[in-house]
Amino acid sequence: MQILRNIAEVKDFLILNQGKEIGFVPTMGALHAGHESLIKKSVQDNEVSIVSVFVNPTQFLAGEDLEKYPRDEAHDIEVAKAAGATAIFLPDVSQMYPSDISIKAPSALASILEGATRPGHFDGVCTILAKFFNIIRPMRAYFGKKDTQQLIIVQNLVKSLFFDIEIVPCDIIRAGDGLALSSRNSYLDESELIEACKLYRALVKAKALVSAGTFSSDVIKAEMAKVLNPLKIDYIEICDRELNSINQIQIDKSIILIAAYVGKTRLIDNLWL
Ligand code: AMP
Repeated sequence: MQILRNIAEVKDFLILNQGKEIGFVPTMGALHAGHESLIKKSVQDNEVSIVSVFVNPTQFLAGEDLEKYPRDEAHDIEVAKAAGATAIFLPDVSQMYPSDISIKAPSALASILEGATRPGHFDGVCTILAKFFNIIRPMRAYFGKKDTQQLIIVQNLVKSLFFDIEIVPCDIIRAGDGLALSSRNSYLDESELIEACKLYRALVKAKALVSAGTFSSDVIKAEMAKVLNPLKIDYIEICDRELNSINQIQIDKSIILIAAYVGKTRLIDNLWL
């Protein structure tokens, strides 16, 4: 696996691999089995797979965890290599931000759910991804449903800016107890890890209610809140696949999304059904 630290090295790598199908997996590092599944999917689908590891400052708000975000380059290189990546791109901030020019995420999608408490977050996401897409020019890019709102906004970004890139959604990878894998889980202590499973249990409860014929969003949300108790809930939302709020679940057209605090750590999870 090639280790690429600057844009010139990426360009040289791309010249050597001209004409090949390129898959791209953008990450912020601290790679876990969730990231690994995206890389493996890219390796299956493409002749060349490039993983980026970049903790993007513009998607963190003041007071968020930019400084303490977990970083472990040696580990990330090992995981990407073992998953079969052809190259890993590890740029620094000054290379990716020669100026503060930015892209604005679609306002309706970016101001709800995560965007309601994290204004500007998705502008940072769209800005960094547009840069990576222009540098790497992949045929396909891989995104986890773990960050469903991000996935939907990225689909909108490539459509709106005419990037000729297929966005490939990937299923959420979970620990044995159901907790969705996340780099932020490393902030949780032992008892918080147990509490964190309530997010998944609330989604399982919702699924059981739907299976038993309950489709009302209000009823489902109220039952989910009971399962999440006493966690501080940021939101429980039931939406269609374009993230419009809906009153009734429609099978194969709905997404249930949660954001909740476990101690000081804000976690998100969701279920497509
Ligand atoms: P991050 O490093 O958190 O920015 O995530 C990079 C990519 O990995 C994003 O597309 C995430 O949605 C995806 N990802 C993170 N956690 C998981 C997971 N548990 N299962 C599947 N994909 C994930």
